[in-house]
Amino acid sequence: MSFLKLEKIVKRFGDATVIDNVDIDAERGEFVVFVGPSGCGKSTLLRMVAGLEEVTAGDIYLDGVNVTYTEPADRQVSMVFQSYALFPHMSVRDNISFGLRMAKTPREEIDRRVAEAARILQIENLLERKPRQLSGGQRQRVAIGRAIVRNPKLFLFDEPLSNLDAELRSQMRVEIARLHRNLGVTMVYVTHDQVEAMTLADRIVVLRAGKVEQIGSPADLYERPDNMFVAGFIGSPK
Ligand code: ADP
Ligand code: MG
Repeated sequence: MSFLKLEKIVKRFGDATVIDNVDIDAERGEFVVFVGPSGCGKSTLLRMVAGLEEVTAGDIYLDGVNVTYTEPADRQVSMVFQSYALFPHMSVRDNISFGLRMAKTPREEIDRRVAEAARILQIENLLERKPRQLSGGQRQRVAIGRAIVRNPKLFLFDEPLSNLDAELRSQMRVEIARLHRNLGVTMVYVTHDQVEAMTLADRIVVLRAGKVEQIGSPADLYERPDNMFVAGFIGSPK
């Protein structure tokens, strides 16, 4: 079985079906990118994988275990949001270690993991600062650091770079690719940015109105799109 498997996932909000019988999987270590228009259900899918949203129907398997009804804290999944969601009154160090402190991780272990994450993300000199004293790119590194220290089996990224300017975005894109290479962890990444999708993805999932339109490698989708919708999404910058 695939490392991550979404099987016949349905999500309804009231009468609205926002995810409509979706099957997606990811192999261990794979970098899978979700693209699709605003409102097509990308964030909802990620939130269900993280356990932040219940499925209406279907099953989610992670590393051979059915986690459909597993608490978020027990899924070993870390999610990075577009908004960073940092605590403004806490230092960078305390932001990064927050989840570990809540889980009563021993102090030395916390210090070791924070130091390691800070080294990977090159924010060692920022640990005692407050979020307001950081640039957008630095804040996003802190948000990624908070995800890393939990040693997740799976990283979820929801448009993590869309608040950054073009130059920082391309720099962070390279850093996320490096992070994926170094950690070797499975990543599912939502973006509107065609360049991000094409350069980061092992496989791209094109979504439209809660359904999978096509799944394939960047080259597959670029060279052999199933239809005009996919061609339009991959072929022209959004
Ligand atoms: P995307 O991330 O692709 O832009 P979302 O997953 O945020 O799309 O939203 C998919 C659809 O579900 C949208 O029509 C949105 O309005 C709807 N939706 C998302 N969350 C809720 C909610 N909590 N209650 C009702 N509708 C929601
Ligand atoms: Mg979204």
